[in-house]
Amino acid sequence: MISETVLQELSRIVGPGHMKSLPEDLTDYSKDATKLQFMPDAVVFPGNAEEISQILVLANRERFPVIPRGAGSGISGGALPTKGGLVLTMDRFDRILAIDQDNLITRVESGVITARLQEEVEKVGLFYPPDPASVKISSIGGNIAECAGGLRAVKYGVTRDYVLGLTVVLPTGEIIQTGVETVKGVVGYDLTRLIVGSEGTLAVVTSVILRLVPKPATQRTMLSFFPDVLSAVQAVSNIIRNRIVPSVMEFMDKLSIDCVREETGFPIPHETGALLLIEVDGHENMVSQEAKRIQDTCTRSGATHFQASSGEEEAERLWEARRNASPSMMRLRPNKVSEDVVVPRTRLPELVLFLGQLGEKYGIPIPAFGHAGDGNLHVNIMYDENVRQEKENVGAVVKDLFRKVINMGGTISGEHGIGITKAPYLDMEISGPSLDLMVRVKKAFDPNNILNPGKIFGDL
Ligand SMILES: Cc1cc2nc3c(=O)[nH]c(=O)nc-3n(C[C@H](O)[C@H](O)[C@H](O)COP(=O)(O)OP(=O)(O)OC[C@H]3O[C@@H](n4cnc5c(N)ncnc54)[C@H](O)[C@@H]3O)c2cc1C
Repeated sequence: MISETVLQELSRIVGPGHMKSLPEDLTDYSKDATKLQFMPDAVVFPGNAEEISQILVLANRERFPVIPRGAGSGISGGALPTKGGLVLTMDRFDRILAIDQDNLITRVESGVITARLQEEVEKVGLFYPPDPASVKISSIGGNIAECAGGLRAVKYGVTRDYVLGLTVVLPTGEIIQTGVETVKGVVGYDLTRLIVGSEGTLAVVTSVILRLVPKPATQRTMLSFFPDVLSAVQAVSNIIRNRIVPSVMEFMDKLSIDCVREETGFPIPHETGALLLIEVDGHENMVSQEAKRIQDTCTRSGATHFQASSGEEEAERLWEARRNASPSMMRLRPNKVSEDVVVPRTRLPELVLFLGQLGEKYGIPIPAFGHAGDGNLHVNIMYDENVRQEKENVGAVVKDLFRKVINMGGTISGEHGIGITKAPYLDMEISGPSLDLMVRVKKAFDPNNILNPGKIFGDL
C-alpha cells in the first residue's frame, strides 16, 4: 500500500492532474485484454523521462511496485498490477519526433499507437512492417516490451528486427540510451535486444529509433481452400521452395472455418478442411507473376478452390474470413484460453492432428488459426466455466499442449509473452543455468524488484 505522504510526493513529481488514486478512477488501469483484474494503489501519467526517473528512485526508497503500461492490449497480463503499487502509463509519450527519409529511420515516443506511426510513414512512401492484429489499439512501447509479431512476420520479421536504439529509464532511475541510429553498430553488449521482449521488467522505454523500409507499390490477396491440413501446409512449403516469400500466409483449421461460415455466412465450401489467406506485395509486375505462380502451386498441392482479389474492396472481403476467426469461435463455448505456440512450419499438420486428439481426450473443442508462414498457431482452448470438469481441465490441456510443442522443437509463446498467464509454465522451456542467468540479469537491472514484479519469473 502506498502511503498518503508518498502519494503526495508522486503528485508533486508528475504535477497536478497527472495522478489518480480514487478507487473509481483506477478501474480502467486494473485490467488488460486478459480480462483478469488487480487494483493498483494509484496511476500516474508522467510527461518525460526525468519524471519517470524520480518516480523510480522514490519507489526504490519506499519499496512499492511500478508497472509500466502502454495501451493495455496485452494478453499475458504484463501490465496488470498483481501486487498493487503504481501503474505508470505512457499516454503522454505520444509524439512522432522525426521521420528521416534519407536515413530510413523514425524517432518516436513509446506511447504512440502503432497504426498512427504506420499511417504517418506511409504518407511519405515509407513502411513500418510489424503489424500485430492489435495495431490500431497497441502502443509502440508495448510492442517493444512484448516483441510483438504479426501477420507480416513471414516476410518482414517482428518488432525486434526494426528497433535500432532506445531511450529507457532503468528501475534504479538512471536514464540511458541503448543501440545506435545506424544499421550497423557492434560496440558493447546489445542492450537494445535484451530490453526488447523483456515485458516491462528491465526498463521503462520512453523513446525509440526504428528502422523503416520503402512502402511496397502494390499487393494482392488470395484465398485458397484445401481438403485437409496436410495439403495446405504442403502448399506453404511449395510456395517457399519456389522462392516466393509472401507477406502474409494465414492458416485456419476446419473447426475455425466451420465457425466463421456458420457465424458470418462467409461462403466456404463445406468439404474444406483447411484454408490459406495469402498476400504478396512489391512491384506490380512481380506481384502479378507471383500471384499466378501461387495459384498454380496451391492447385498442384491439392487446393479445391482459389480466389484472388482484383482490388482493395475485394481484398477486404477475403480478409473477412480470417478477421472473424477469433470472434466467431465463441459460439463453441462461452470461455476461451488462447495460446500462441510456434512449431517448425513443416510440423504444423502434426500439431493440428494433436489438437484434435487433445480435444477428444478432454471433451472440448480446440480450434486453431494463425501464421502458417512462420509456424505460429493461435490455439483456442474453448470451455464453459460453469461446467466444473471443463474449467478444471484447462490447466492440464495447456500443459499437454506445451509439452508437445517443446518436444516438436517449438516454443510456448511466439508473440504474446509470458507475463503472468504463462509464468507457471516457463520452466517447461527454460530452466537450469539459462533460467538462473535470466534471474541474475533481472536482479542486476532491478536489485529491489521494483519494476513489474511477478512477471515472467513469478515471485523471485
Ligand atoms: C485483439 C488483439 C489482437 C492481438 N494481436 C496480436 C498479434 O497479432 N501479435 C502480437 O504480438 N500481439 C497481439 N496482441 C497482444 C498485444 O496487443 C501486444 O502484446 C501489444 O504489443 C501490447 O501493447 P500495449 O501497448 O497494449 O501494451 P500493454 O498491454 O499496456 O503492456 C504489455 C507489456 O508491455 C509493458 N510495457 C508497455 N509499455 C511499456 C514501456 N513504454 N516500457 C516498458 N514496458 C512497457 C507492460 O508492462 C506489459 O508487460 C493482440 C491483442 C489483442 C487484444
